Amino acid sequence: MVHVTLISYTPHPERTIAAAARVSTSSISATELIEKLTPEAVDSLLTQLLTSGHLSPFEHASFTFAIEGISRVTSHQLVRHRMASYTQQSQRYVSLKEVNYITPATISAKTEWGGKYHDMVHAAHRLYREMLNAGIPAEDARYVLPQATETRLVMTMNARELIHVCELRLCLRAQWEIVELFEKVKAEVERVAPRLGVELKPKCYRLGYCDEAQSCGIFPTAKEVVGERR
Ligand SMILES: Cc1cc2nc3c(=O)[nH]c(=O)nc-3n(C[C@H](O)[C@H](O)[C@H](O)COP(=O)(O)OP(=O)(O)OC[C@H]3O[C@@H](n4cnc5c(N)ncnc54)[C@H](O)[C@@H]3O)c2cc1C
Repeated sequence: MVHVTLISYTPHPERTIAAAARVSTSSISATELIEKLTPEAVDSLLTQLLTSGHLSPFEHASFTFAIEGISRVTSHQLVRHRMASYTQQSQRYVSLKEVNYITPATISAKTEWGGKYHDMVHAAHRLYREMLNAGIPAEDARYVLPQATETRLVMTMNARELIHVCELRLCLRAQWEIVELFEKVKAEVERVAPRLGVELKPKCYRLGYCDEAQSCGIFPTAKEVVGERR
């Protein structure tokens, strides 16, 4: 199961973003601004920045997460987001003693397929262990491990990229495991930066319509909206 822990973050993330934004129009320094800005001013500034698309100040607040219990399918999707830093457990240096893997609900719900899936993963792992015992290096034996294999990593993302990635990955048309991952990322951010946490949402909530070919049902597609207006 996906497990996400926020292990460190920029102190006062929302004030930092607001102070950085105000530097461009203020005669006082960011050091003074960060002390003087009221919570109401921070809230209003963040709204203004998002409405106007002035997003670079959001890059001054970063969040570092420990992520565990995701499949290699999902970690592969995750690291396609380039404006972030990742350090992932290595299958070259760490040989896997136990078979930890993810089973999608569509498979576990069906006993027959759940059983076959389980057998295949365990057979691959048995072969992996046999190869290690025969002296084959872990970096080569790992080629037989399935994409279902669990992994862990540390990810650092700034608030601008978090907003962007959540727009894509909290969309219910994205795959369930990465949706679950970013729901937990959002919950962790909300704990320490609730105003920012509100902005971590699928893109349809910002657009007011769904830009996917098929909607999950929360918002109509752009085509349906145009049709309605005719
Ligand atoms: C539902 C879904 C389905 C997908 N299906 C596929 C698929 O079938 N095959 C596939 O290969 N990928 C697929 N992807 C991955 C997708 O194409 C992107 O690689 C991934 O979502 C990373 O997002 P990104 O490129 O917006 O941004 P990030 O890497 O998160 O970067 C953030 C933003 O920075 C800017 N940026 C970053 N790098 C550059 C650059 N080099 N040049 C210019 N601007 C840049 C862009 O504005 C970008 O949006 C899918 C993604 C989603 C959400």
